[in-house]
Amino acid sequence: MQHSPSLLDSYSNSSTKRKPPMDDLADAPAESESPFLPGTSIQYAWDSTSIGYLKTCPRLYQYTMVEGWTQKHESVHLRFGIEFHKAIQDYEMSRAVGIGHEESVHDVASATLGRTVDWQSDHPNKNRATLLRTIVWYFEHYKDDPARTYVLANGKPAVEVNFRVALDFGISAHQPYLLCGHLDRIVTFNDEIFVIDHKTTTATPSSHAFDKYDPDNQMSVYSFAAGAVLHSPIRGVIIDLVQVLVDSNKFVRGFTYRTKDQLDEWIRDLRYWLLLAEVFATEGQWPMNDTACDKFGGCRFREVCSKSPHVRERFLHSTFEKGKPWNPLTPR
Ligand code: SF4
Repeated sequence: MQHSPSLLDSYSNSSTKRKPPMDDLADAPAESESPFLPGTSIQYAWDSTSIGYLKTCPRLYQYTMVEGWTQKHESVHLRFGIEFHKAIQDYEMSRAVGIGHEESVHDVASATLGRTVDWQSDHPNKNRATLLRTIVWYFEHYKDDPARTYVLANGKPAVEVNFRVALDFGISAHQPYLLCGHLDRIVTFNDEIFVIDHKTTTATPSSHAFDKYDPDNQMSVYSFAAGAVLHSPIRGVIIDLVQVLVDSNKFVRGFTYRTKDQLDEWIRDLRYWLLLAEVFATEGQWPMNDTACDKFGGCRFREVCSKSPHVRERFLHSTFEKGKPWNPLTPR
């Protein structure tokens, strides 16, 4: 597909004429309860993000989950990913209530422009114009997608599925651990059931682009959770990878599979990870995993952790601010 310079303008203009339906479809985020036991740093409600922090580095978990440090300056990549996911969610919700493809794309594009009107990004690949192009081209590419939205037992489409699963182990006899989160969509594909997830990248996907998702914490959480929601194991996760270039996009679809035995093992292992988290919280000590600092393009806390312990707090305050910590119990 060729880049259309008028794409952003055309949706910008029309956004003032039509009210997108997403305002009606989206649930207002509810004020959630704390995922921690009262008066402690012991977390009982976990999602893939918080488990990922813990497994990557306990100190990263402390800074983000326990203390709620966030970067003062918004990450372009994070904002782009959030907006892209939001657009897909809105589109799927719109289609699920019977609104046609063209109208849904139009409404989603208009809503995206409305949300990003103040977003200033000078990143050549990730900015407001490339976001809109990526959204519109993605919907065009998957317009006749053979992956069909699964219909739940209650007759509702499996779109925007929030889940809370009580595990059969916990902090005490009275407080089981909860595995929480959100599935964008559950689909049937070739008579098998999958969760669909989306990733954006500026790098060219290699032939091994999907190998890194097996094993992978997030994909195992999604597979386990969807199986719990449906009361039946699912096949795994479909990953729609979107490459965002300056003037075009590429779309690649990959699969990652999970057997019941693999998920049973993942849950068994999780029990030990959460036991460790409880020890860290009880001791008030979250050790540094200094083998993880250069992973995923470099940890955002590296500047802090590289300093002497007695001056770290000062560096934390100069680059980060205490915001609302990530809460797995907040529905999306
Ligand atoms: S810089 Fe390294 S030690 Fe510090 S939080 Fe990140 S991964 Fe952990």
